[in-house]
Amino acid sequence: MKIPNLDIVRLHKPIKNELLAAIEKVIDSGEFINGREVNEFERKLAEYCGVKYAVGVSSGTDALIAALMAFEVRPGDEIITTPYTFFATAGSIARLGAMPLFVDIEPDTFNINPNEIEEKITNKTVGIIPVHLFGQSADMRPILAVAKKHNLWTLEDAAQSIGAKYEGKQVGTFGDSAILSFFPAKNLGSLGDGGAVLTDNGDLAEKLYILRNHGSKPKYYHKVIGGNFRLDTIQAAVLLAKLPYLDKWAEMRRAVAAKYISAFKKCERVVVPLEKPFAHHVYNQFVIRVPEAKREETIKALSAEGIGYAIYYPLSLHEQECFAYLGYKQGEFPQSEKAAKTSLALPIDPNLSDDEIARIADVIINTVSH
Ligand SMILES: *Cc1c(COP(=O)(O)O)cnc(C)c1O
Repeated sequence: MKIPNLDIVRLHKPIKNELLAAIEKVIDSGEFINGREVNEFERKLAEYCGVKYAVGVSSGTDALIAALMAFEVRPGDEIITTPYTFFATAGSIARLGAMPLFVDIEPDTFNINPNEIEEKITNKTVGIIPVHLFGQSADMRPILAVAKKHNLWTLEDAAQSIGAKYEGKQVGTFGDSAILSFFPAKNLGSLGDGGAVLTDNGDLAEKLYILRNHGSKPKYYHKVIGGNFRLDTIQAAVLLAKLPYLDKWAEMRRAVAAKYISAFKKCERVVVPLEKPFAHHVYNQFVIRVPEAKREETIKALSAEGIGYAIYYPLSLHEQECFAYLGYKQGEFPQSEKAAKTSLALPIDPNLSDDEIARIADVIINTVSH
């Protein structure tokens, strides 16, 4: 029996009729762009996240681009972030002609190491993008302190972590702004692409509303150069229908994670994810570490058993071909490079059964122990 990494079809089954009804309503309204569901979803999302404004956009990537444009990032600006994240975090910085200034990660959380940020800051540095990777918050307190000291803005990349908490408070509420992604495999997924920018700052929100419509206000009068960064009404309707289930699904993910952690207790060669005391982890991914020399073999064993897995991420961003022009060298971010060689994401389907979890753990333990 195959075990997929994430079975979205199974997740949707109990609410399929709700999703169809939501989509049908939009079809009948004919308002596919900027329809009323977009506004309603933005209100409910802002309320859920605990921010004043949530601006729906076309993807998490476009949320990053729009937020950076709203911060008025200019070519040559430097922005601090982690080299161990999905490409879009750094790609968006580079697309605006700015420089991703990488800071290595903490090995136990895969998140940016706050203690190494300050030494990287120069007079060209304008902001920090901490990423809450895999569903766990970065250590925001020291990050915000260094941002404040050096007068930098902070943009939280919460694409993988909607609903996660730091010291009891939702991620996305700490920085000047935050971004979310509704890519289908994220904890709140649309049936396609979608994203949002969060902020408490009314001026920033106003800029984002304009930027997502080609910088126009009123229509056909362009104040700034923006883009088409809009969230489709159909996706907003789907997200509205799914939002009430988000916390329940996160609890199911946490339960799966707890079972994995207990199953791996007997094997010290498998390092399970650490939930920091400050964190409430929502496990968008359950990422273990196996010995470097054993990862290939482990992957083969999982494949042979029909068990889904993923490598997040196989190559640190500072080593990507497209970023060669930035001049980073191999060995510059040892923790990130090590993580790329040892990490292994296991199925984290909210509906994973006890038997499936036990089977996955057995395959891995048998492989790494020999
Ligand atoms: C998914 C993701 C994004 C981009 O989101 P898309 O909706 O796929 O464009 C950005 N940052 C991180 C950390 C992500 O995981």
